[in-house]
Amino acid sequence: MPYRHSARLPRTRTALLLAVVGALALLLAGCGRAGSPPVKGPKGSELPQYPVVKNFRLPSSPTWVAAKRRGHLIIGVKEDQPYLGEKDPATGVYTGFDIEIAKMMSAALGFPPRTIQFRTIASANRETALQNGQIDLYVGTYTINDKRKKLVGFAGPYYMAGQSLLVRTDEHDIHGPQDLAGKRVCSAAGSTPYQRIQSEYPKAVLVAYDTYSVCVDNLLTYQVDAVTTDDAILLGYAAKVPRELKVVGKPFSEEPYGIGVPRADNALRFALDDALAVNEKNGNWKKAYDATLGLSGVLAPEPPPIDRYPAT
Ligand code: GLU
Repeated sequence: MPYRHSARLPRTRTALLLAVVGALALLLAGCGRAGSPPVKGPKGSELPQYPVVKNFRLPSSPTWVAAKRRGHLIIGVKEDQPYLGEKDPATGVYTGFDIEIAKMMSAALGFPPRTIQFRTIASANRETALQNGQIDLYVGTYTINDKRKKLVGFAGPYYMAGQSLLVRTDEHDIHGPQDLAGKRVCSAAGSTPYQRIQSEYPKAVLVAYDTYSVCVDNLLTYQVDAVTTDDAILLGYAAKVPRELKVVGKPFSEEPYGIGVPRADNALRFALDDALAVNEKNGNWKKAYDATLGLSGVLAPEPPPIDRYPAT
């Protein structure tokens, strides 16, 4: 991974930062120092099992019918968001709360979770991926909003996040979005947090990358002053290197996470709403949360009410 450094940074500090970034990269990769397990991470034994619904059929869903013919689902996710969607580069295995939601949905639709083909898709490419059939579903910190509903459908929400700010622990001037004037703020292209800073805090100097992990690298190397996105995502990065990073202030938006589906596939959307309701009721949702996102330090909330909006 390339890292840029300011020429003004003293050598020793640069070396320290490189070490920190390297350690973070390893932690994010979920593969600490040789022989040592990751600091905190989902333990297979604590994760719920999702029994596959036998003889499930959904002939009115073109997405389901195509997946059935193929034999498995293709699900778009993130791969660099701690406790939400993380890919182990050594094994290729994905873990996190979003991944658990994807597995629940797969089982409910009659496909064994182990057969899911995960595909990493960045925030800016989600709608296109669903529209052109590259993926069947998307589960990756995907905020439901009216603008996106014109392009895709959303089951859920299955979690309520809120926009926040991540800064270095040596930062003392930024406590909320009101303090961002003249500060370099990094977020992911195509995300709602990026758009909110652009429209509501125009004095901030916005920097966009494809992913939040690149923003975090830039924060640790003093290239930017803050990273902004959902609290759920930022708390995960902070939990990995608590001596270097902290989340400040209160969440300043509502980000209801939905499962993205092709817009016209109402049958699929309703089947996923039903599956979410079942898993919230039988305790799987909470078990999955506790074993994944709960590790970033926030106790399981009540899941938000499912918004089963009429067929489009
Ligand atoms: N939930 C926000 C969004 O959907 C930010 C997180 C992300 O980019 O995935 O844009």
